[in-house]
Amino acid sequence: MAAAHHRGAVTAAPFSPTPEALLPELTARQEVVLLARTLWSEGYDDHLAGHISYRQDDGTLLCTPWSLLWEELRPDDVLRVDQNGTVLEGRWALPPGFPLHLALHRRRPDVVVAVHHHPRFATIWADLGRVPECYDQSSALGGGEPVVVDEYDGPVNSALAADRAIVAMGDAATALLSNHGVLVTAGSIRAAHQRAVALEYRSRRAWFVEAIEVGRPLPEPSRSFFRSLDGEGFIGFFEAMARRELRRDPDCLEPRGA
Ligand SMILES: [Zn+2]
Repeated sequence: MAAAHHRGAVTAAPFSPTPEALLPELTARQEVVLLARTLWSEGYDDHLAGHISYRQDDGTLLCTPWSLLWEELRPDDVLRVDQNGTVLEGRWALPPGFPLHLALHRRRPDVVVAVHHHPRFATIWADLGRVPECYDQSSALGGGEPVVVDEYDGPVNSALAADRAIVAMGDAATALLSNHGVLVTAGSIRAAHQRAVALEYRSRRAWFVEAIEVGRPLPEPSRSFFRSLDGEGFIGFFEAMARRELRRDPDCLEPRGA
């Protein structure tokens, strides 16, 4: 007990509780469910739009299905597809915009999780083709500077247009897709959550700040400090919001069943 409360131990690692202490152990499908549901609460809630992909060790992708809301998702709703988009497991259809994820995972082996949706405020900036300014700490939490990508030189389900968009994105972690929405990438579910939340937060804050006047951007080095608290290192942010969802719907990790 004395060691656990030793002052030195606390100050040495202020952001390092273990995930296991904060959230029950999850299957990969349960992780997808909690990512989708927590992001729904953060403004990623444009009806049936949006898809999440989660690359597994065998190269297959778990993904959210077409025709369900993110806030009602259950683990057995999550599809497993191969790298060509053929559904291997699951009873729902693949979302029509999924070629974007297939192109992304083909070209970006660094990406494990990708989130696409039309969040409330980030999509306004995407519609403007502008990156919102970063004004505060919460806006800087992870993912670096977004890029603007114009993918609309083909229909939304065109594999060629999807591939061109991914090439245009380069190695950026987050993109505003012009006249469309966002694409957030990460190496884990936790980091994808934090980056997606930070992008929407930044977009909302910049909207309200600039409704008054153009403010002072968050200065360096504060910006780089908070950016360094990316979702890989900042254990607790995703877990806290996942616990909130578990309180809201205690059955959400159970199968929907037949
Ligand atoms: Zn979309």
